[in-house]
Amino acid sequence: MKLPFFLAQRFVAAETPEGTLPIARNLCSKGLHVTLDLLGEYVSDRSLVDEALKSYLQLIQMLDASSNSENNSEVSLSVGIDKNISIKLSMLGQKIDESLCHDNLIKLLEAAKSTNTFVRLDMEGSDVTESTVSLFERVFPLYSENVGIVLQAYMRRTKEDVERMCELQARVRICKGAYKEPVGIAWQRMSDIRDRYQEYMETLITRGNYPGIATHDDILIDATKKFVSTNNISSDKFEFQMLFGMRSETQLEMVRDGYNTRIYIPFGNQWVPYFSRRLRERKENVFFVLKHLVRR
Ligand SMILES: Cc1cc2nc3c(=O)[nH]c(=O)nc-3n(C[C@H](O)[C@H](O)[C@H](O)COP(=O)(O)OP(=O)(O)OC[C@H]3O[C@@H](n4cnc5c(N)ncnc54)[C@H](O)[C@@H]3O)c2cc1C
Repeated sequence: MKLPFFLAQRFVAAETPEGTLPIARNLCSKGLHVTLDLLGEYVSDRSLVDEALKSYLQLIQMLDASSNSENNSEVSLSVGIDKNISIKLSMLGQKIDESLCHDNLIKLLEAAKSTNTFVRLDMEGSDVTESTVSLFERVFPLYSENVGIVLQAYMRRTKEDVERMCELQARVRICKGAYKEPVGIAWQRMSDIRDRYQEYMETLITRGNYPGIATHDDILIDATKKFVSTNNISSDKFEFQMLFGMRSETQLEMVRDGYNTRIYIPFGNQWVPYFSRRLRERKENVFFVLKHLVRR
């Protein structure tokens, strides 16, 4: 059964790229930065992998064309949209054949390099963590300006990954982690995850390359602000990142306070797994959807 899109509308911008661009442009006009994420994950069929690659390439072209038409326009179309996308390697064939995924990633990064687009590799479940880190490390030397990775604070291995990424001077988004993982490989208690997150945030801001501090958690946001102010670190050394539809007022306050802030904008018709993760991690999100349903 296909769920109606209006259920997800608070968390997913639109089902099409054409519907998403005006929303992204509106956020950029308020001083926010954006990253666009075409939803979908764990593709197990080669023809669907080809389709996913094609869709990602079209998205890069569309963002590039949109920024060029803004530059060329006599009448200013106000602000442009960042050429910045987030992708999932499991859509490029990671679970079918790692070398297929590598080749697809190279095709994508070639397009990114030629259009000056930044591609962030989202981090998925622990079954692909090692593969994602090692594919990233293979492509990074060739595309260091155009590719970044995500690390999850709940994974026990992340301390080591943070060190590896600092050494490479790779751009890291640090988040808590959204998948259900076993106790042997992932911290479970929120207090433990927050402690690890804070440690990695400090390391990445001090020794990393322009990390993305991705959280809606005031404890971690305040810890970040306190850390940079105590250590006289300027606000252009990192950015905050939040998800579309979450804490919209806080996002704008951050911009007003002079912090670079990027909004992760998911879109596309394969929104159910992403939507389910948002409902699972916060009961207020479920109440919001129910309230919306009752009002209709
Ligand atoms: C930009 C971005 C990209 C991400 N990319 C990935 C990825 O690649 N891989 C991955 O596994 N996960 C990713 N995530 C998801 C992430 O791992 C967490 O699952 C998600 O962010 C929830 O953790 P949190 O720290 O934001 O807050 P939570 O742990 O959900 O909440 C902690 C506290 O924060 C406050 N809070 C949270 N949300 C709100 C709200 N809407 N309004 C008011 N207060 C709130 C509340 O006080 C709450 O108790 C990403 C998250 C972001 C923001």
